[in-house]
Order: sequence, then C-alpha cells, then structure tokens
Amino acid sequence: MTEMSIDQFRLKAEPYYRPVGNEVDLFEAAYARRMPVMLKGPTGCGKSRFVEYMAFKLGRPLITVACNEDMTASDLVGRFLLDKDGTRWQDGPLTTAARIGAICYLDEVVEARQDTTVVIHPLTDHRRCLPLDKKQELLQAHEDFQLVISYNPGYQSLMKDLKPSTKQRFGALAFDYPEAELETEIVAAETGVDREIAGKLVQIAHRARNLKGHGLDEGISTRLLVYAGQIIAEGVDPVLACEMTLVTPLTDDPDMQETLEAAVATYF
Ligand code: ADP
Repeated sequence: MTEMSIDQFRLKAEPYYRPVGNEVDLFEAAYARRMPVMLKGPTGCGKSRFVEYMAFKLGRPLITVACNEDMTASDLVGRFLLDKDGTRWQDGPLTTAARIGAICYLDEVVEARQDTTVVIHPLTDHRRCLPLDKKQELLQAHEDFQLVISYNPGYQSLMKDLKPSTKQRFGALAFDYPEAELETEIVAAETGVDREIAGKLVQIAHRARNLKGHGLDEGISTRLLVYAGQIIAEGVDPVLACEMTLVTPLTDDPDMQETLEAAVATYF
C-alpha cells in the first residue's frame, strides 16, 4: 500500500479526549509491547473516542470495524473478487491494518460470530500473524500493528459472551460514564452549552442510569448527552431537545418515557 493510501487512515487533527483516570498511560504501556487491548464498558461512554485519541497520540493510522452478527471472517480478512480481468484478492480491514502497522479497532466484537472472532487469535499471541487461508499466505503483522477490541458486558446475553480463550488474549481497560463533574466538562466542551446546562443534562442522565435493569436496558449515554447539548446549542428549547435525544431514542415503553420526561421536567 502506498504512503498516500495509508494516510487516509491517519487522524488529521487531535481528537478531543478528556482522560478519566490513568487509561492513557496504561494504553501507552500496552502499545509499547504491542499488547492487544480490550475496552470494556457501556455504549457511548468514550471508548471509540479514546482509541482515536491514542492512535493520534501514538502517530498510528487507525482502522475501525463495526462488528455485527452477519460479519464473516472474510469481511475481516479479505476475499477474492471477480472483475473483468479475472479474480483479484482484496484485503479486508484487519489484513490491511496488519500490513500497514495500523491500530485495528474491532468495535463490539462480541456481536460477531465466534468463528469470526477466532481469526484474530494468531494475531494476539507471540505469532502476530494472520493466515490468509484462501490466498495461501501467512501474513506477518507489521511491527507497529496493534489490535484493540471493544466489548459491552451489559446488554449481551450470556450466550453472546466472548469465549474465555478470546478474552484471555487481551489486557483490559474498564470504561464507564465519567463522574458528574467530568461528564459536565465533556458535554460543555463538546457542544458549547454552558456548564449549568451541561450539569443539568448530566443530572437527568444520572436519574435514567438508576433505572437500568428496572425497565431500561441501558442508561442515557455520554453520547446522548452530547446530542442533547448540540440541539440545545442550536437554540432549541431544552425540554424538546431532551425529548428528542434523551427520551425518545432510549425506550419505546410509554410509562418509561413518562418517567424520563418527569426527570427532564425537574431540571428544565
Ligand atoms: P463508545 O465508543 O464507548 O460507544 P464514543 O467514544 O463514541 O462511545 O463516545 C460517545 C461520545 O461521548 C463521543 O463522541 C464524545 O463526544 C463523548 N465522550 C465520552 N467520553 C469522552 C471523553 N472522556 N472525552 C471526550 N469526549 C467524550
């Protein structure tokens, strides 16, 4: 791959990331040893933003793959394509990352079928290789390559848990929604609303997060708070903005919507 095409995977500007604990140092130490890293935590709490920030900080290209249950090993590794000149091999995103020395981020890897997950195994131990069976090539990963996966232990059923043989190939960093003060800072910084409004949004989220497991599968994420702040910053009435971003997306249950609306009404 040419330098120019590698450049498409480089972050152009430093992403805004507010460290929550010692995760930056820990990730750097893991990267120094090219250790595979698992980011554990609920949806929308900053995992993807963190990887983007780390890729920028470490000067590595980043290739992100959103995993889903229909994904096959070929979607990750690559396949032969048929075109007018015959068949042509096309690398999948994981193969590209291993070739160019990128950080490969497999988002929500537990969504992928287990036979898909298994293809990452040889990349995660001392072999650092990727067998391209169909192509009969054994690809040795670039020395700068690193594998990062994200995993939300919350809403998946036990059936969808990662296999222990997969889990035990990663160092793990636990993420959660940042504590109130920090989350307020993040929402204000990301949206331009003042700290008072950001603080109120965070309080609403805390109420909703207490309902997790009592009618809600997931609480209001930092991502949704950022959405709320963005809509408010566009001049929309906060109650309507919260309805659009914090209530309607979260639940289809009318009673639960009413409960959330009541939480919004307490603050706006
Ligand atoms: P995840 O990958 O955990 O689902 P994201 O990384 O996409 O979540 O986070 C969602 C949004 O929350 C980000 O786009 C960003 O606006 C905000 N965010 C969450 N945590 C942080 C943080 N520590 N620093 C900066 N932004 C954050």
